Amino acid sequence: MEICFATNNAKKLAEIQAAIGEEILIRSLEDIDCIEELPETQETIEGNSLQKATYVHEHYKINCFADDTGLEVEALGGAPGVYSGRYAGEPRSDENNIDLLLKNLSPHRNRKARFKTVITLIINGQVKTFTGIVEGQILKGRTGVGGFGYDPIFQPLGYDISFAQMSMSEKNKISHRGIAVQQLIKYLKGL
Ligand code: IMP
Repeated sequence: MEICFATNNAKKLAEIQAAIGEEILIRSLEDIDCIEELPETQETIEGNSLQKATYVHEHYKINCFADDTGLEVEALGGAPGVYSGRYAGEPRSDENNIDLLLKNLSPHRNRKARFKTVITLIINGQVKTFTGIVEGQILKGRTGVGGFGYDPIFQPLGYDISFAQMSMSEKNKISHRGIAVQQLIKYLKGL
């Protein structure tokens, strides 16, 4: 079986291909000659995930899946959420996003937050959704040097280290994306 993952992020592709084994061949956007930027104009994580998968399915007539992730901070009413990547504006900058989040959260005592990943799979004309959530809190400053995005300021519930202090495999076992990917793989293997 062949399936397109609507991304060109080599790290995400390698991670999924390794987890899924050789029965299913994962192809990137580049592999299917999709060079245009995928539309991401919806106001929810679910909406953007569906929009990207639908675009690839309709334009390239291939079984595919897409992911979208956001960090939802309780005291900020769920922000930055679907806007996590461009919270501090364009061009996207992890450093500026973190600075803005720490600033906006500084007057609040409640630092609860969660990461959410939604994967939308379109296979043989059917649409399936897989959601992974990890609860945690936003630290007062950066801790750790690993990972990417908001990892240095996110501490998952039950741990006393940030995502940026974990190894990649440790993070993948408990992370939002790791959980959603495990569900996707279970489903694909059962087909
Ligand atoms: P995307 O949907 O995977 O492109 O993620 C959107 C934004 O959420 C990224 O630009 C990152 O800032 C943030 N993000 C996504 N996944 C993670 C993660 O695992 N750790 C930290 N930040 C993340």
